[in-house]
Amino acid sequence: MHNSVYYIILIIIVLDFLFERYLEYLNSNSLSVQLPDQLKGIYNEEQYARSQEYEKVKSRFSLITASLSFLVIILMFALGGFGWLDNYLREWTNNPIWLGLLFFGVIGLASDILTLPFGWYSTFVIEERFGFNKTTVKTFIFDHIKSLLLAAVIGGGLLALVIWIYEQTQGMFWVYTLIVITAFSLFMTMFYSTLIVPLFNKQKPLKDGELRNAIQRFSERAGFKLDNIFVIDGSKRSTKANAYFTGFGAKKRIVLYDTLMDEMENEEIVAVLAHEIGHYKKKHIVSGLLLSLLNTAVMLYIFSLVVGRPEPALALGAHQASFHVGLVAFGILYTPLSFLIGMGMNVFSRKNEYQADSFAASYGLAEALGNSLKKLSVKNLSNLTPHKAYVFFHYSHPPLLARLKNLKK
Ligand SMILES: [Zn+2]
Repeated sequence: MHNSVYYIILIIIVLDFLFERYLEYLNSNSLSVQLPDQLKGIYNEEQYARSQEYEKVKSRFSLITASLSFLVIILMFALGGFGWLDNYLREWTNNPIWLGLLFFGVIGLASDILTLPFGWYSTFVIEERFGFNKTTVKTFIFDHIKSLLLAAVIGGGLLALVIWIYEQTQGMFWVYTLIVITAFSLFMTMFYSTLIVPLFNKQKPLKDGELRNAIQRFSERAGFKLDNIFVIDGSKRSTKANAYFTGFGAKKRIVLYDTLMDEMENEEIVAVLAHEIGHYKKKHIVSGLLLSLLNTAVMLYIFSLVVGRPEPALALGAHQASFHVGLVAFGILYTPLSFLIGMGMNVFSRKNEYQADSFAASYGLAEALGNSLKKLSVKNLSNLTPHKAYVFFHYSHPPLLARLKNLKK
């Protein structure tokens, strides 16, 4: 007998899928063949045509992958696949921690096998065709193995710990889990660069010279103590360029892609760093951490109200309530709320991007930053005319033209 939770879950999956396709449809309709006037001086005709083609190919590809994963998920729920797996695993063990680990281990591996060919196609066919790909087959395979091992060790470890806490404390488990997750994410923010990144990339301190001096001069002017400037070998996988800021306190560091260094003038790189330092100075890093903490607290609290109840488990075809089956049901039931929260986070993030841009501009770097953003967009063949609705729901950064307009002020 199916209960109402069963139908609610199916409706959420369908609505979510349809809404995403609608946004994608709007976005692909705002592509054009002609170079728009506002982009003259940024893209030339040929680059523009390539960027539109790239966008088209990517959106067709995402339509295929999203439709397939929709099909798999809807079948898993409609046919009670999750409940079947739970019942099957119970023939082997009744220990809730082992059950949870096996359950998500099987699902994780199955979804990994299903998505692997698509990851391959995206890297070696699409990115290759547009001249971005630098990943060798060997790097691709090792990346994949390392990611799987990391997911098993870190994800499995956290899952086991949380299930154990749940077994010990039941209703209050969300408070203890919140503490564990917060401690873990602070630890990761601090040590991500020294523990995780080296598994995938080489990072070297930026060499002494013109650029380092220029960066040092700027950080003194901005009153920002910065000892850790690293260059990372992004060119190992892609020609696309980036720069980011990570960690906090004594652990804070700025990481520049080697692909960024090839293309840009020193002043433009300083402007990119000024933007990143702006995030720090305007306390975006701290407020972002606090917001995600709040978000996690709300999510865990609601989950704690649902997890012990039998309805979600029965809706998924299981015979009894359990942490892992409850988590799967909750993952879908929470979608509408997480959609709204994600939307709010994007609004917040885009506001922060403008502020960080204005921070760089207040040091006389508006033009240099504008130039570097243009170069980055062209190099990465960014879509410069996304649909407004698509931007509103999905973009954490404002589109280039909006940022340039803000910099002119
Ligand atoms: Zn930013």
